[in-house]
Amino acid sequence: MFKKILIANRGEIAVRIIRACKELGITTVAVYSKADEDALHKELANEAICIGDALPKDSYLNIENIISAACLSGCDAIHPGFGFLSENPQFARMVEKCGLTFIGPNAETMEKMGNKTEAVQLMIDSGVPVVPGSHKDVNLEEGLACAEEIGYPVLIKAAAGGGGKGIRLVEDKESFTRLFNEAKEEALKFFSNDELYIEKYIKHPKHIEVQVMCDKHGNAIHLFERNCSLQRRNQKMVEEAPCISISADLKAKLYDSALKACKAAKYDSVGTIEFLVDGSENYYFIEMNTRIQVEHCVTESVTNIDLVKNMIKIAYGLPLQYKQSDIKLYGHAIECRINAEDTENDFRPNPGKITFINTPGGMGVRIDSAVYPGYTIPPYYDSMILKVICFAKTRLECIRKMRQALEELIVDGVKTTVEFNYVLLHHPDFILGHYDTSFIEGFIGELKENAKLVQ
Ligand code: ADP
Repeated sequence: MFKKILIANRGEIAVRIIRACKELGITTVAVYSKADEDALHKELANEAICIGDALPKDSYLNIENIISAACLSGCDAIHPGFGFLSENPQFARMVEKCGLTFIGPNAETMEKMGNKTEAVQLMIDSGVPVVPGSHKDVNLEEGLACAEEIGYPVLIKAAAGGGGKGIRLVEDKESFTRLFNEAKEEALKFFSNDELYIEKYIKHPKHIEVQVMCDKHGNAIHLFERNCSLQRRNQKMVEEAPCISISADLKAKLYDSALKACKAAKYDSVGTIEFLVDGSENYYFIEMNTRIQVEHCVTESVTNIDLVKNMIKIAYGLPLQYKQSDIKLYGHAIECRINAEDTENDFRPNPGKITFINTPGGMGVRIDSAVYPGYTIPPYYDSMILKVICFAKTRLECIRKMRQALEELIVDGVKTTVEFNYVLLHHPDFILGHYDTSFIEGFIGELKENAKLVQ
C-alpha cells in the first residue's frame, strides 16, 4: 500500500481523505495556502506544507508547487479531492511523470470524459441515451441552426463546463445570440476554453446519478443511484439515496447504462454517471464526474462501503474487493450541504468568524466538517462549510432525523443555509418525494411570498 499521500485540497474533503488514509495506515501530507494557516486539514495531517498565496491560482491550483511539495516530502501518491485540480488531466499526467500515483482515473479517460461533447459521442457509440442536441462544438450560426431544428427552449453549454458554469437557457431565437456570447465569455473565464454546444432543454427533469467503482483490471460495479434534483442555479443543495420517485425498471436501465459508460470510457476509479430523467421516464446521459463527489457520503451510508478508502486501494492497483452481488442497499440517507451564505440576499457568500458552533450527533448522524469555534472562514474559496448526512431504516425516519440534526446545529457569527434546509425538509412535496430540478426555485419564490405576509 502507499506509504505517504499528499492531499491536494482543503476544507471538509481534505479532512475526509486524511481520515481514510489514517484508517489505512498511510501517512498524510496536507498542503495549505497562506489564507488557510488555521485550517483544520492542516492540523489533522501528519505534515503540512504551505504552497502559496490565498488565491486558488497561487496555491490549490498551482501544479508545480503541489507536486514539488509531494516530492520533497517523500509522498508516493496525490489525492486531488473534488474541485481544484481533480479533473485536470494535465495535472494527473504531471503527477505520474514525476513518479507519483494520481489517485483517480487514468489521464486519458479523464480527458475524454472531461470534454462533454467527446463524452456524449462516446455514449452515443455505446448505446447510452443522450439529450438531443448538436453533440459537438458549434459556432453561432451552427448553434442557431441546431436550436431551430430541435426546437426552443434549448440550453447552451460549455464543453469544458462544470459546477453549473457556462450554461444558458434560451427560450427563443431573439435572445440566442446574446446568451451564446455570454456563455462563451463565461466559459473562457472559468475553463480557459470557449467551446459551446447545444442541448434540448428537458422540462422539469430529475437529476439522478449512479455511483460506480471500477478497478485497473476491468472490473466495474455500481453502488445504486442518488437523487440530486434539489439544486439552485444548477448547483446541488440536498441529495438522497435511494431515489423514491422512479421505477425499479428505470433504475435497472440506469445502472446498466452507467456500467456501459464505464466500459466505453475504460474507467478505473470511483466516479459518477449523471442522467436527467423526464416525466415519462425517458433518461439521458449528461456527464461523467471522474472524481469523488461532495455527495459520496449518502452512498457510503446506504451501502456501508467507504468510497474514499476504495479509491485509494484501486489507485494502488488492487482489484475490487466486491462483486456486484455484494453491494446491498440498507435504509435511506440524506445529505444537507451547509453553506456560509445569506439566504435572504440571493445566497451571497458570507465568510467570517464562527463565534460558536454546536454540531449534532447521535446514531445515524454524520458530520463532515472543517470548521470549529473561533475559526474564520476565508473569503477565497467555496462557501460550503460542512455537510450533515443522516441515515435511517426508512426515508421518513431519515427525514425526521435530519430535522432533529438541523435543530441541534447552531452556527453563530456567520449566516448559513441551516434554516433554509430545515424549512425545505418540512415541505409536503419534499416529504412525498415529488420534486425535480425546478423545485428549489419555486420553493424560494414561496419563501419570499411568505416573508411578505409576515412583514
Ligand atoms: P455541470 O457540469 O456544470 O454541473 P451538468 O451538465 O452536470 O453541468 O448540468 C448541471 C445541471 O443543469 C443538471 O443537474 C440539470 O439540473 C441542469 N441541466 C443540464 N442539462 C440540462 C438539459 N439538457 N435540460 C434541462 N436541465 C439540464
